Amino acid sequence: MKRIDRRCGGRPRHQLSPAPRLLLLLSALLLQLPIQPPAPVQSSPLPDPCPPEQAAHPLPPPLPEGTSPAPGSPAGTGTAPDSYRHRLRSTPHGWARRDHWCVWVEPGSSEGPAARWDRRWSDAVQAALAEWSGLLPLTQVDEPERAQVRVLRRRPPLRGGRASHGRAELALRQVQRGGLWRLEPLVVVHVSPDQRQEATQATALHELGHAFGLWGHSDDPGDAMAGVPGPVPVLRLSERDRTTLRWLQRQPELSPEHPPDGETPQGLSGTPAVEGSPHRDPTAD
Ligand SMILES: [Zn+2]
Repeated sequence: MKRIDRRCGGRPRHQLSPAPRLLLLLSALLLQLPIQPPAPVQSSPLPDPCPPEQAAHPLPPPLPEGTSPAPGSPAGTGTAPDSYRHRLRSTPHGWARRDHWCVWVEPGSSEGPAARWDRRWSDAVQAALAEWSGLLPLTQVDEPERAQVRVLRRRPPLRGGRASHGRAELALRQVQRGGLWRLEPLVVVHVSPDQRQEATQATALHELGHAFGLWGHSDDPGDAMAGVPGPVPVLRLSERDRTTLRWLQRQPELSPEHPPDGETPQGLSGTPAVEGSPHRDPTAD
């Protein structure tokens, strides 16, 4: 009977095959070499998705009141029954949309008699943001200068003698972040704290829709972006809201290549600050 030495796979112990022999040689060589400490792993920090702005130059108001969609804008080229994209307006620099938004929400009091009401307002705004965040990459930031959307806990100022509970105002700006200049929307959103929580949430959902680029109104009261809201506050995005936003997100972002009146971005450094107030929103409440 053949004896098998299991430690060597059945071969006599001293007869190594070429491969193990080579390994032994290499090991012997390596033992002669000084031991090098392992190179430290370079942990590259993730890029900040919302860097602070270093400088900014405003552009003239992108959507003077009463303007129609920009010529050639896809939104003006017919209707789509499953969306209201034909009712949206772009800016002279293209669609005021982004692949990723940084959002700042005005903090409320954490103590004192106002804290309870401030928390209700915050909860309503956060619920509205959560609804949009299912469709859009959003990052909430603690400093307004990191954000393209700034949500204020305030009733909008009267406009033309009319009061409203919500308003979104768009300005286009050349902004420097991380050393790079880029054309960005800046949207200031007012959401009044003087409403019931559900109404506040519906207002926030609607105004945030404008902020994220839906500059227009649906004609269906079941949509969050309805121009004339129905009797029941809309707290969830409808399929038409979602389809419209998905369509918008497929459009090109803002581009400084066609500045109005032949201005170049470089020539804007001396431009006085002009905040656009493109959007009249009388029915957000
Ligand atoms: Zn509106």
